[in-house]
Amino acid sequence: MTTELSPDVPAGPLEQARRDYQELAARGLSLDLTRGKPAPEQLDLSNALLGLPGERYTSADGTDLRNYGGLKGLPELRELFAEALQVPAGQLLAAGNSSLELMHDCVVHALLSTLPGAESRWVDQERIAFLCPVPGYDRHFGICERFGIDMIPVPMTDEGPDMDLVERLVAEDPAVKGMWCVPKYSNPTGVTYSDATVARLASMPTAAPDFRVFWDNAYAVHHLTGTPAEIADLLAACVEAGHPDRAFVFGSTSKITMAGAGVAFFGSSPANVEWLLARSAKRSIGPDKINQLRHALLLRDADGLRTHMERHRALLEPKFEAVARILDAELGGTGLAAWTSPEGGYFVTLEVPEGCAKEVVSRAAEAGIVLTPAGATHPHGADPSDAVIRIAPSYPALDELEQAIEGLTVCVRLVGYERQSRRPA
Ligand code: PLP
Repeated sequence: MTTELSPDVPAGPLEQARRDYQELAARGLSLDLTRGKPAPEQLDLSNALLGLPGERYTSADGTDLRNYGGLKGLPELRELFAEALQVPAGQLLAAGNSSLELMHDCVVHALLSTLPGAESRWVDQERIAFLCPVPGYDRHFGICERFGIDMIPVPMTDEGPDMDLVERLVAEDPAVKGMWCVPKYSNPTGVTYSDATVARLASMPTAAPDFRVFWDNAYAVHHLTGTPAEIADLLAACVEAGHPDRAFVFGSTSKITMAGAGVAFFGSSPANVEWLLARSAKRSIGPDKINQLRHALLLRDADGLRTHMERHRALLEPKFEAVARILDAELGGTGLAAWTSPEGGYFVTLEVPEGCAKEVVSRAAEAGIVLTPAGATHPHGADPSDAVIRIAPSYPALDELEQAIEGLTVCVRLVGYERQSRRPA
């Protein structure tokens, strides 16, 4: 996906773009394409949660879930998500409502407590670094920023991160302790890691004995087509490659049930799970198992989860189709943009000519269309090529989304053609 301005100065299209932008600004829109939130109709799919678990408060094994305890989470919900997250139920924890919280906690605990296989705590090292595939998820980068962890950007390819570079960086530098990965329908590129990428991540030699892959499988079941993407099982591949403790797997029901009231999961090797449980025990006497029971009753089993996700797809697919249709109609053939066609997940990545993304986002804001800040997809909010814009189509109603994307294409044409006209011949 690369975009280069042609040397021609197209006076006609520029004038047209200026007129279109004036009209757009005069419409006084107020539209928001910033965060990948489920739309209200998607949340409605899980409204039955509000009436669950009814009078029931025991688990399948008869445990009273109203009380303290059960740090590992509700066994039947762990069973239910084992397949989707590719973690044996015995090694999968069901926790609070946020997987980001679990990622944050894992970093904090690794800073303050020696990880299995480590010689010392991360905080005792002079420098800690994480590999950050870019474009990537801003909140991952936020955790690194918060704790002074250096971020090393690694470009994404169609198969996942550039593995030649990853292998070199982890082999050379013992300060590289971790790597963020969104392996399926990645945020924001929609890329799904190939089997070869997973195998290389599992088997690559690392200079740090306590290197961890933060495998954020946030979009494990969030398909937008009838042919769901499959990824190789990282946890199993790590065991096979002789690095059983390498993978930290995360997931949640945030975009399955209710984003603010779901259940998050952590899966890993038995040693890592014990390590995290021992730390978590100091922080909580147990998670909200009644909410976990609600989820188990709503979703029932792996097939129930699949059926539920089909309902999400029915609501989301038309929105992603609308984005693709409008981008194609308005920007196709202009040479001003390239964009992704994700088969799942929550985002479309729009690439505009180098040096234009910030200006497109600010022109859109002036016209009442709020986009994720340009640069958010890169560490420290700085995209060196200032070219990547993340589009989050899920939340707005279809007609509002269409207006927002049409408006965005006007801004891309305006900024792109203005740049072109300013370039020396
Ligand atoms: N990971 C990724 C890749 C995400 O895109 C998001 C939300 O957009 C999250 C994690 C947040 O997950 P949770 O709601 O479980 O904290």
